[in-house]
Amino acid sequence: MAINAETHLYGIIGNPVNHSLSPLIHNTLFQRLKINAVYMAFEVEKNSLGLAFEAMRALGLRGVNITIPFKETAINFIDEIPENVDRRVGAINTIVNRDGQLYGYNTDGTGFLIALKEELSFNPQGKKILVLGAGGAARAVVFALARAHADRIMIYNRTQERAKGLSDYVAEHFPETGIEVLENLEMISTKKPTLVINATSLGMKTGDKSPMDLHRLNHSVSVYDLIYSPNETPFLKQAKALHWPYANGLGMLAAQAAVSFELWTGEKTGVREAMHEVLKKCITS
Ligand code: NAP
Repeated sequence: MAINAETHLYGIIGNPVNHSLSPLIHNTLFQRLKINAVYMAFEVEKNSLGLAFEAMRALGLRGVNITIPFKETAINFIDEIPENVDRRVGAINTIVNRDGQLYGYNTDGTGFLIALKEELSFNPQGKKILVLGAGGAARAVVFALARAHADRIMIYNRTQERAKGLSDYVAEHFPETGIEVLENLEMISTKKPTLVINATSLGMKTGDKSPMDLHRLNHSVSVYDLIYSPNETPFLKQAKALHWPYANGLGMLAAQAAVSFELWTGEKTGVREAMHEVLKKCITS
């Protein structure tokens, strides 16, 4: 599509943003669906976020994604978070501009739950789940599991205080969810998780070890790794060798983007699958 006076502008606001794959997948879908829109990456200085939002209103950007480090502070610059669950998470990654009013959403958790369903046929309801890590991604995952009515969420993190902070926040906002911080993984088998999730960044770099030896479990579990590059981390290689169901984070990346795309354009059919295909092509092992 040619860019003209009626082209709608979307984008991603973060710092850094130069490695973001969001422009690629959103622009691909705009072109395929013949939507007159473009998606740009905006690297914003940490103390200029308010200015970026003023610009969004003044220039009439139709929507943006928000990424590190602004997912929490962006809430201060919008008009409303329509969904109760997004308010409880306390972080947003998608803004929709409807007639000058800015609405905030968090599609990370929904994207994660879609990926679990589509790729592992896993429904967290009533399940015991082990989450490795306690950073920003782990937070989105733990909140998604809590809202999907997991029976018990166990968190193990190298820095235990960070896991404790996450656990306290979940206990406050989702009092119905059982949540536990593990000091180590020695007795993990007795806790009988049915899903283990790597939400640490361990596995991204060549030479990284696995965040957990899956042989500690004496039963088959589903295994999800949020990392998508490389596409098979040491953690996933072990799951594969054990013949357990496993998936990498590419499906979550595609699904959260597809939910944003639907919020902006109303288009849903085939979007997630098309984004997943585009991503697979540009991620090498
Ligand atoms: P983050 O906030 O920096 O958190 C990093 C986490 O990894 C912390 O729990 C940290 O533990 C742990 N960690 C780092 N190095 C470690 C090591 N050597 N040994 C043990 N633990 C270690 O990062 P994030 O935003 O949560 O991202 C985590 C991963 O998720 C990244 O690989 C990111 O690419 C991926 N991710 C994927 C998606 C997706 O859509 N698929 C979305 C978001 C993030 P400490 O607390 O002890 O430092």
